[in-house]
Amino acid sequence: MASQEDIFKKLIAHSKEYGFVFPSSEIYDGLSAVYDYGQNGVELKNNIKKYWWDSMVLLNENVVGLDAAIFMHPTTWKASGHVDAFNDPLIDNKDSKKRYRADVLIEDLLAKYDDKINKEVEKAAKRFGESFDETVFRSTNERVLENQTKRNEIHGRFVKALNDSDLVELKAIIEDYEVVCPVSGTRNWTEVRQFNLMFSTDMGSTADGAMKIYLRPETAQGIFVNFLNVQKTGRMKIPFGICQIGKAFRNEIVARQFIFRMREFEQMEMQFFVRPGEEMKWFEHWKEFRLKWHKALGLGDQKYRFHDHDKLAHYANAATDIEFEMPFGFKEVEGIHSRTDFDLSSHEKFSGKNIKYFDPELNESYVPYVIETSIGVDRTFLSIMAASYNEELLENGETRVVLNIPAVLAPIKAAILPLVKKDGLPEKAREIMNDLKFDFKCGYDEKDSIGKRYRRQDAIGTPFCITVDHDTLLDNCVTIRYRDTMLQERVAIADLQQIIGDLVNMKNLFKKIVG
Ligand code: ATP
Repeated sequence: MASQEDIFKKLIAHSKEYGFVFPSSEIYDGLSAVYDYGQNGVELKNNIKKYWWDSMVLLNENVVGLDAAIFMHPTTWKASGHVDAFNDPLIDNKDSKKRYRADVLIEDLLAKYDDKINKEVEKAAKRFGESFDETVFRSTNERVLENQTKRNEIHGRFVKALNDSDLVELKAIIEDYEVVCPVSGTRNWTEVRQFNLMFSTDMGSTADGAMKIYLRPETAQGIFVNFLNVQKTGRMKIPFGICQIGKAFRNEIVARQFIFRMREFEQMEMQFFVRPGEEMKWFEHWKEFRLKWHKALGLGDQKYRFHDHDKLAHYANAATDIEFEMPFGFKEVEGIHSRTDFDLSSHEKFSGKNIKYFDPELNESYVPYVIETSIGVDRTFLSIMAASYNEELLENGETRVVLNIPAVLAPIKAAILPLVKKDGLPEKAREIMNDLKFDFKCGYDEKDSIGKRYRRQDAIGTPFCITVDHDTLLDNCVTIRYRDTMLQERVAIADLQQIIGDLVNMKNLFKKIVG
């Protein structure tokens, strides 16, 4: 069986070969951790964004949108805390010259202990069969207890070090538990240093006295500084949310996992403004809503889990991640944060403007509390590609590479394929396509054998192939082939609209969220 690492490599190669993701400026050998989306990638990405956007603004009448500029007044980032605190602790291995995030090295170490424990439990479960009592086993087995004690010890030190921003202690943990560099295999580490992740640039010509500005590291601040604009002009009443999709930039220390960690990426964020004291209720509400959004895609419920943060960001009083099982383990795809009134209060202080909301029901003014949901478009894209990529062994011994992308999100919904390039079949195929193209992104392909064409469509995740043959000219019927089952069926051209429409309608997913 192929290892997860092999599968990940294949996925990266497949993404490039079929026009989903290219390395940026590839003719110049690429730019580290920056990627471009190709002709199929951009369709999938746009569909993901539409699914998110509509789920926010259609399903929630108290959520509206915004599109703020990437450039913002530099004081924004002072007020938000990013200038002083948007840091990651970095450490270098002197032998391999590779750079790591010290916190990630320790998280990986913790994951190793978890793995060891889980393996013991799995082994025992197999051995004891039905009589197995996991709770008893976990609390009595010597090896499990030993590993659990060590894990708790590391975890305790780690959380304290993060909360105290104690870089010396982070290094001490790495040394005490003999963490080695995965490349050189040595423990020859530098000290741990803080590194600010924001990119900066200059605005205006130097003669005028250029101003140093930042490329936004999150889209959230564009929402905060517009809070009153939207509230007043939209006559919004608390609780309400503002959502936004846009690019964000982070000078990530380690960027080695394809589009999982990029230096330029895209976020879909919502800030939901609530009465102080009601934030935990809404935190739970949005956790549930967002998990349903993910699960509605049908990639497998077991692939998702919540992971509560060990260290809360400077602005948060509760935070959890929705993690997805990537080929390289469970990883964060979305963060849900209770940001208190930190951002709005801070902008009030730094700008000197009143950013309070007058609550007509309570007859008082206050700075609202905020629940944020923040999801990466690119990580969602990766999770969908990873869960959809399948190599199937067929009965005839051949292997079929297929992307079982949720039909709603597929880049191309239907491929129209004339069986041969003559006898009026291409004309008939075009006629069908001209009818369907108003509703669905369609593809047309007349080159190579029909079998090869089916494979090409499987590889980009097209849910329907529609084959036009000689009988079509007589009976106005076509063969429709379903990607996932490869089943073929004869249907009337007049019914295509409905057959395709039923399966690719986003309403199907929305109903799973709020149905
Ligand atoms: P990580 O711990 O993986 O660095 P984070 O906790 O800093 O992520 P947030 O600040 O919560 O991430 O950002 C919200 C979302 O934005 C993340 O859940 C992720 O989907 C996305 N995101 C953050 N950084 C990147 C990146 N460098 N590349 C791609 N997506 C990212």
